[in-house]
Formats: sequence, structure tokens, C-alpha cells
Amino acid sequence: MSKKRIVIVGSGPGGLAAGMILAKRGFSVTIVEKDDKIGGRTSEIKLGDYSFDTGPTFLHQKFTLDETFAEAGRNSSDYLDLVKLDPMTKLSWGDKTLETTYDQKRMAENIEASFPGHSEGYERFMKDHGEKLRRIYPVLQKPYHKLSAYCRSELLKVFPYIATNDTVVDVLDRYFPDDNLKLAFTFQSKYLGMSPWKCPALFTILSYTEYKYGIYHTTGGLCKIPEAMAKVFAEEGGELRLSTPVDQILFSGKSATGVKLTSGEEIKADHVIMNADYANAMHTVMNGFGKSKKKLEGKKYSCSTFMLYLGLDTLYEEEPHHHIMFADNYSKNIDEISGEKQVSDDMSMYIRNSSITDKTVAPEGHSQLYILVPTINCRHGHDWETTKAEYRNKILDRIEQRTSMKDLRSHIVEEKVYTPDTWRDSGIFMGATFNLAHTIDQMLYFRPHNKLKGFQNLFLVGGGTHPGSGLPTILESARISSNLICEEENVVSESVDLATSILAN
Ligand SMILES: Cc1cc2nc3c(=O)[nH]c(=O)nc-3n(C[C@H](O)[C@H](O)[C@H](O)COP(=O)(O)OP(=O)(O)OC[C@H]3O[C@@H](n4cnc5c(N)ncnc54)[C@H](O)[C@@H]3O)c2cc1C
Repeated sequence: MSKKRIVIVGSGPGGLAAGMILAKRGFSVTIVEKDDKIGGRTSEIKLGDYSFDTGPTFLHQKFTLDETFAEAGRNSSDYLDLVKLDPMTKLSWGDKTLETTYDQKRMAENIEASFPGHSEGYERFMKDHGEKLRRIYPVLQKPYHKLSAYCRSELLKVFPYIATNDTVVDVLDRYFPDDNLKLAFTFQSKYLGMSPWKCPALFTILSYTEYKYGIYHTTGGLCKIPEAMAKVFAEEGGELRLSTPVDQILFSGKSATGVKLTSGEEIKADHVIMNADYANAMHTVMNGFGKSKKKLEGKKYSCSTFMLYLGLDTLYEEEPHHHIMFADNYSKNIDEISGEKQVSDDMSMYIRNSSITDKTVAPEGHSQLYILVPTINCRHGHDWETTKAEYRNKILDRIEQRTSMKDLRSHIVEEKVYTPDTWRDSGIFMGATFNLAHTIDQMLYFRPHNKLKGFQNLFLVGGGTHPGSGLPTILESARISSNLICEEENVVSESVDLATSILAN
């Protein structure tokens, strides 16, 4: 019998993960990618001899990455050099700092040193959240394209956590009376591009996961993850075509029959998987079966980011790998971003100096800095073209004033700036870098389904579908959609579960 054919639109982490799993399970898989490189928002940016991650720099829940590789019959450590970071992140509020670690004893000591008398709240938080994560985790591994999914026993167990109007901050108020310390457990909402004052309460599991299981760097950058998946995909016989934009998905009634490329070529398929940004794809490549731009604008979206990628002719040894500097008035900064209109002058920022851990990303004695400033998405427009130079200077001023990098400007030899418009122009709807917002009304059944509603054989993977944005959830979306296709094709595969025993401890 000939193999069933699958076309995947996009080689982001979601597309590549689905590609390697399905190729391993015996499907004939072609991934078509519009760009001349793989990885999407997780691709590499090369500037001279410097290598940068475009987007992700924190890898959480390594066990989900391991499970994804195991689904393809591989061990992630054979393809990636994963480095567990300790300390993890330096947090600073003006002069006050906290160094975070997954070592709970040291974390409590660090909290005591910076916030005397407050480690009890941290210990209680860690104790309570083990059970919360154990209950929520299985919910994130199942599809929600049928309302009957709400009757599943694992979902019933988490209703107390999701059927509430409480936000992340409401939950944290019960543990952390100090507003600054509270922020150490809220900034993870920004991984979803959301305000912790609006982010649903269930997402306190993000900071718990980080502080319990740690975060990882990948030697060479997190862009090595898509590269590793592409390698497995090729080993399993998958076909990857770069610089191959899809113009339209082809349909016969409610069935997708393949894709038409901008070159005019048609690729026939039994199933189509969409990894391209959900909202962008829905109004550009759906051949009249998608949604109007206006309708899509009615949904809620994440924030965007202003990025500086700097190649330096020096290495700041005393600067940490990850550094988050909170705005002086963080809640105002978050309000401005959520309001989608005003660019904050008092901005929060994240600086990543991975060269202190990883000597492969810059020439010897040199380094590269990745600077991310969360900012408004493009909903209301902002003239970045005329303001980006000034904003870049404000960011550099703040770094020179508040870190040991007093002479930063004089060491810049390579530079690239991304504004929200850059993200938008690369095919991300509204430049909302972290996709559709993760509000209760846009999650589970209410998020675009893994099997797209109304179609027989069109599936979604990536941050725009269930469970959501962020590498572990994106990998999970690939596993969910791959399993749905296998169910329909009666392809039996053994499910991989490394998480249960890890979460039990
Ligand atoms: C600045 C930033 C920082 C982030 N940091 C983290 C982090 O630290 N940790 C974390 O876990 N997550 C992080 N994320 C979130 C998330 O992990 C990444 O955005 C991830 O790359 C999203 O993967 P994806 O599979 O959804 O899609 P994408 O990476 O967006 O890939 C989609 C692919 O589809 C292609 N495509 C689109 N249209 C077409 C077409 N018509 N034809 C062919 N191909 C097409 C695109 O070119 C792209 O390659 C970050 C994101 C950003 C932007």
C-alpha cells in the first residue's frame, strides 16, 4: 500500500516536530517553508561571525522536548547539547536584585537575602503548585475540538483552577505580600505575551515549572532545536523544501487536497498541517474558506517585542546569562502594553548574554547580546520607522546606566533591530509575537482547534492552536495533531510518557 501523504506549511518548531513524528510513523511528509531557512521565530540570525536566536532563549520543561524526540525514536541528547543553567536568571528592580535557581534551598536563601522574612511564601507556593501542575498537565496533552472533551475526568479535576476569574496576580497575592518579590513569579506571563494582572490563574504553573525543573540553554542557541528536528526528519525520509511559499491550500468541499505554491506547482496530500501563524494564514492562504481580516482583528492578541541583536567586540564576563530588568513602575508598563497604544519610556527589558555560557555564538573574546523589550502589538499602528532609532537609544541608555556595561555602545560592531512592524511583515498577524492571547475565552475548546473546525483533514500546529504559545506547548500541539491524524488513518503508535514520573516528585 502506498504511504499516505502529508504536507506541512511552515518549518517552525511546531511544523518540524509534527514532521519528524509523522515521518517516523510511516507517512510521506513534505514540509514547505516560505523562508530560505528553517525554524520560523526559532531560527538563527547571522550577523557577520555572530549567531543569534531570533526568538526563544529559555527552554522549559525539557522533558517535553525529550518526549517529542522519543516519539520519533530518538534521544534529544544525541542531537543537542542541553545545558541546565544555574543560576537561572538575575532579576532587578532598580538596585535590588534576586538571583533565581531551581535549587530550592538556595532559592529560599536568596529570597531571604533580598526580601528578609519572605521565603515562607516561596516554600508554600512550591508545595502547593506540584499538585496543581500534576492536574493541569494531562489537560494540555489532549485535543479540545469537541465540546464533549469538557466531560473528560482530567478536565473535571482542574475546574477549580480554570473556572475562576482569578488572575496570576490574584493567586500570587496569597503567597507574596511584597510587590517586587511577587513579580519574580509573574514575569513568566510575559512568555505568553500577557499581563499577569489579566493572565488566567492557572498560569502560575509557569513560574512553578521554571523554579522546580529549571531552564536550559542549547549550545549554539535554541535555534539548534529546529535544526536537530530537521535532521531527524531527513533521517526518516522527510522532504524539506525551503524558499517555497504556499500561495493557497487546495480544497475539495470540506477536504484539503494539498497546496498550491506561489510558483504555481501543486502538491497533493491526504492531510494538510498548517504551522504558519494562525491568524495570518486564515486570511491569506485559505482559498476563500478562512476568515476575514476584520473578523480576526476581533480576537485578543499577545503583545509584541522590540529587539536589539548586538555583536560586540568584547565579553562582559560579570553580566549574567539571563537578566530581567523590571520597569520602575511595572504595572504601568504592563498597562501600557496591554492597552496596545502607548510605547513605554519606562520599559522592562530582558538581556541575554549567552556568550558567558556558550563560546560558539561569537568569535573568541567577543560576545553577542540579545535584548528584548516587550511592547505594543500593531493593532493601533505606531510609527516605528521614525521612532525606532530614538527608542533603541533609550534602551541602550538604560542598559549603560543600570548594568556594568557602561561602555556598551563603543563595543557594538554588528547590529540588527526588530520592531513590531518587522514581526508583522514577516507574517505574524499584528506583530503579536506570542500569538493569540491566552485568555479563558481563547483557550481549550475556544482556541483554534488542532483539527481545524469545519474541515475533514486540515490540522494546526504551533502557538496559535491548543495548548498555546511557548516551545513545550508548541511541541505538544504537534504531538496532539500527529496523534489525531494517526487515529484517523488507524496508525497505531506507542505513546511516550516521561513526564508522569518526573512530575510525581
Ligand atoms: C521574541 C520571541 C521570544 C520567544 N521566547 C521564547 C522562549 O524563551 N521560550 C519559549 O518556549 N518560547 C518562546 N517564544 C515563543 C515560541 O516558542 C516561538 O515563537 C516559536 O518559534 C513559535 O513556533 P511555531 O511553530 O508556532 O511557529 P513559527 O516559529 O512562527 O513558524 C512558522 C513557520 O511557518 C512559515 N510560513 C508562514 N507562512 C508560510 C507560507 N505561506 N508558506 C510556507 N511557509 C510559511 C514561517 O516562515 C515560519 O517558518 C518566543 C517568541 C518570540 C517571537
